[in-house]
Amino acid sequence: MMMSPSLECDLKQAIRDIPDYPKPGIMFRDITTLLGDARAFRRAVDEMVQPWAGMKIDKVAGIEARGFILGGAVAHQVSAGFVPIRKKGKLPHNRVSIAYTLEYGLDEIEMHEDAIAPHDRVILVDDLIATGGTAEGAVKLIRQLGAELLAAVFIVDLPDLGGSDKLRKLDVPVRTLVSFEGH
Ligand code: AMP
Repeated sequence: MMMSPSLECDLKQAIRDIPDYPKPGIMFRDITTLLGDARAFRRAVDEMVQPWAGMKIDKVAGIEARGFILGGAVAHQVSAGFVPIRKKGKLPHNRVSIAYTLEYGLDEIEMHEDAIAPHDRVILVDDLIATGGTAEGAVKLIRQLGAELLAAVFIVDLPDLGGSDKLRKLDVPVRTLVSFEGH
């Protein structure tokens, strides 16, 4: 599911590149400039869910924190509910949680156990997929609750880090709008 070259170019220009952030060797893809550009923001939100437009979607799950901004807009766009997937210790009610690997060590994400019902049709949203560790954890949480994961959608793919392929191997349809080489 690739985008037209001109749209990819427009969205790419709206993303700011910050070298060596948060540490040397990392090129940080800063989407705050895209969010601040009314046209680019609307276009990105519309395009993320374009293949599923008109289908029944029960919930949009967004990954903390930039996935909340995009996921809230996507949920409104498709008339679905919004579900936050948060870092450990932030959600007040009964939770399901899963550990996932980071570059160094482990982290944990959580979701309210009643946020998604069995057989709900769910779309997962985040700003960027790199190694896919975070998104893979989110996929497992959503499936653990018995939901049907329709797709995982991101603005940015860093394909050299293998995350989007990792999700596709789990039979998750993946849609990304722009991709950058390297990491
Ligand atoms: P990963 O679990 O490796 O796929 O990392 C994905 C998460 O880390 C996303 O929520 C991104 O917001 C963030 N992230 C990873 N690499 C970058 C990068 N180069 N630029 C901006 N955000 C990044």
